Amino acid sequence: MTQSNWRLPLVAFRNPSVRSHQVVGAALNGLASYLWEATQIARSVILFRFGGAQWRLEPRCKLFLRSLLVFRHAVMISNSDDDTALDQPSEDEWRRLVHAAVTARDSAYAPHSHFYVGAALLMHDGRIVEGCNVENASYSLTQCAERVAATSAIVAGYRHFRAIAIASVGGAMPCGACRQFLAEFGLELRVLTIDVIDGSQEKRRLAELLPDAFCPSDLPD
Ligand SMILES: [Zn+2]
Repeated sequence: MTQSNWRLPLVAFRNPSVRSHQVVGAALNGLASYLWEATQIARSVILFRFGGAQWRLEPRCKLFLRSLLVFRHAVMISNSDDDTALDQPSEDEWRRLVHAAVTARDSAYAPHSHFYVGAALLMHDGRIVEGCNVENASYSLTQCAERVAATSAIVAGYRHFRAIAIASVGGAMPCGACRQFLAEFGLELRVLTIDVIDGSQEKRRLAELLPDAFCPSDLPD
């Protein structure tokens, strides 16, 4: 369980756009995660200390652990629904985010490809941090708008983002490098792409765009 699991209910209480049942869902999720991990630790201690008597404890342990696992999965599934998810930006926040991404695109430096991109990241406190693509004559040094925005947000002290809006001709999705870069800070990030020609939008989760992602938790302690 990550620290952010426990912070979600607190974040939700501070966010007026989050409904009360979402707060309860987050609290249940945290409780289920805590119980699950606590019983895993207890189980390993029991097996270690009373290895000879484990045949007596094992059936009760298994039943208890299985019921907890079912409960935990049920809570996780209910929380994974987009309508009930925590930190879902409000309509007004989405509007501000789209406007910021489209405006940031005007600053793009793309003399080589002429493919101008603007990005805007939404923080937990409602602040928006913008970025634009910055090309270079040595093409491989080019920076995407998403990574420029994320890097600026990190400099400002943020470590977790709620949503990102990306504006370009055709409404391009983030490139593979940017998907991996953003995954460092959470796969629950909402990704909204905007086609600046016709105004059409597409909304995804980063977890959908980068399945089976390699994350910080994959590294050894
Ligand atoms: Zn990119």
